[in-house]
Amino acid sequence: MKYEHILNYAAEAGFTLCGVARARVLAGHAPWFEAGLEASGEGVLPYLAREWRRRLDPSTLLADARTVIVCALAYDGFSPVETDAGRVSAHRRNGDYHPGVKAMLREVSERLRAENPPLRAKVCCDTSAILEKAWAVEAGLGWQGRNTLLVNPMHGSFLLLGVIVLDAECDRYDEPFSGVGCGSCRRCEEACPTGALRDRTVDTGRCISALTIERSRKGLPAEPINGWVSGCDECQTACPHNLRRVRLGALPLPPRPFP
Ligand code: SF4
Ligand code: SF4
Repeated sequence: MKYEHILNYAAEAGFTLCGVARARVLAGHAPWFEAGLEASGEGVLPYLAREWRRRLDPSTLLADARTVIVCALAYDGFSPVETDAGRVSAHRRNGDYHPGVKAMLREVSERLRAENPPLRAKVCCDTSAILEKAWAVEAGLGWQGRNTLLVNPMHGSFLLLGVIVLDAECDRYDEPFSGVGCGSCRRCEEACPTGALRDRTVDTGRCISALTIERSRKGLPAEPINGWVSGCDECQTACPHNLRRVRLGALPLPPRPFP
């Protein structure tokens, strides 16, 4: 499978960034994941705790996994939607992004499958048991910030992530990200209105985004928390890597018409 083709297909599907990592068990991420579960206790996302070690190994999603492609779509995170009930996070501006990003990932995987039979592929966007942000770091796209999100040096953290796991080798792989990362910055922790961020983990029982989105998933009526009725962008709008994009005039991004 050709690395250059992967990058071209991802760009042609509309992704802002794409990186390619060699599949392996991400054993080094176990302590971080465990710390996140501990921080959340009986938090709102109990499914994360179930058989969580499976999430470290992409072969549990696709037998004989060899390659993990990570794609990212940048969006304008400084445009929350003001509704009568409260603010809606910018990434939910056009409703649920998952079907659109999944369709883009499928476009990439179908082109690769057509070119490399009998290639098998598993497309993941947020709901599969895989550590998408950790794989983005493995694929060289950035670092996992104190806000726990992927931060790319150029594009910041307003990124929607998607992953494709494949059972064939690629002719080249990206190096894991090895830059400076957050350094001494703690602006996201300071900006969080509920104190949900600590030691690079998020307490999902306190996080407004987790709480409000989980309520809507369960079909419960929207109840604003700190003015937010769906999602929360405060730790991201405080991040200097996102603010720099505004200074550089990289915003607003062109609207992305989801398929
Ligand atoms: S999304 Fe909001 S509540 Fe959750 S960690 Fe970020 S700032 Fe805190
Ligand atoms: S605000 Fe600072 S600490 Fe938080 S993710 Fe951005 S760079 Fe890292």
